[in-house]
Amino acid sequence: MSLPGRLIDSFGRTIRDLRISVTDRCNFRCLYCLPGSEEAADFYRTQGQVDPKPIKRDWKPRTHFLSYEEIERVVRVAVGQGITKIRLTGGEPLLRRNVPELVAKLAALPIEDLALTTNGFHFAESAEELHAAGLRRVTFSLDTLERENFNKFTGRDRLEEVLAAIRQARDLGFDPVKVNAVVIRHLNDHEIEGLAEFAHAEGLSFRFIEFMPLDSGRAWQKEHVVSGAEILERLNVRFNLQPKGRKHPSTTSKCWRFDDGPAEVGLITPVTEPFCDNCNRLRLTADGKIRTCLFSLHEHDLKPLLRDGASDADLAKWLGEVVLKKEERHNIGETDFEQPDRSMSSIGG
Ligand code: SAM
Ligand code: SF4
Repeated sequence: MSLPGRLIDSFGRTIRDLRISVTDRCNFRCLYCLPGSEEAADFYRTQGQVDPKPIKRDWKPRTHFLSYEEIERVVRVAVGQGITKIRLTGGEPLLRRNVPELVAKLAALPIEDLALTTNGFHFAESAEELHAAGLRRVTFSLDTLERENFNKFTGRDRLEEVLAAIRQARDLGFDPVKVNAVVIRHLNDHEIEGLAEFAHAEGLSFRFIEFMPLDSGRAWQKEHVVSGAEILERLNVRFNLQPKGRKHPSTTSKCWRFDDGPAEVGLITPVTEPFCDNCNRLRLTADGKIRTCLFSLHEHDLKPLLRDGASDADLAKWLGEVVLKKEERHNIGETDFEQPDRSMSSIGG
């Protein structure tokens, strides 16, 4: 049982990290997340071997979203239960109005780490406000440095804007500025060294992520995953990398420093080297569902409690009970694996 002030699951893992999706909407159509069409999703299918399935769009009405006041309350209660890290994500979080207002509310709470993940498209407009509101850590998604490939990956011709946003974040003093790239065989694996070179030149913390079966096109296949081991082997041929190890066992990435300058590269390997044993995360969807795992097939609805007069003590007790239902591990790649209904964009990555 969870102790008062701590969230401990039935496998003894202490939960410290809450990822909050502020909207399930997105203005990009990344092939591996929310492909814009059957054709786009089909692009990385092995020709003829997989039956096309309709693209799922399960956007919730905006009226179902938690308000900023409700999110702040959940975070306050969760902090009382031992949560120390908060990441705002989506969908594309900066599509929601006034995100700096939410950041200011959360930054006033006693959390150790407040971060935001964004595709960068709208970053320039609110970068200074976000910083002034107390945001210090930002992660961008950037899978390619080739304009044509960027269009293919995201469905948008916005590479220059995203590069400018990354540089703007660095110049404004966000630290670290992280960049994530999902690596997919035959799509961007030829860019691994180039992306690392970019991280090196720009002084970034760059993470290569293994492609997970969370795409709304449901076209994921094992053959498209480029393993962390392969990525590392290639990086070691080109660069002199020094292992940094994991800051904490629950950290999802393993990192290496370049031998000169502040840049680093990391690998996030949920498929080939799952880190479930040390997982300390919970997720809150934009419509108020707690998910105990990225791959959960069941969700826990917090909204009725928030809207029907539950006290903070009731919320804390409920969270403790939900955490006990956290899955031991995911089973990607096994015969009984079942992809959740929601895609990454509506879960909150
Ligand atoms: N829209 C924002 C962005 O793209 O940064 C935040 C939400 S996005 C869902 C969060 C992260 O999930 C991104 O870094 C994205 O690359 C990653 N992601 C999405 N689908 C994925 C998949 N199928 N496998 C691995 N990572 C994925
Ligand atoms: Fe791409 Fe992020 Fe939008 Fe998914 S949520 S389509 S990863 S920008």
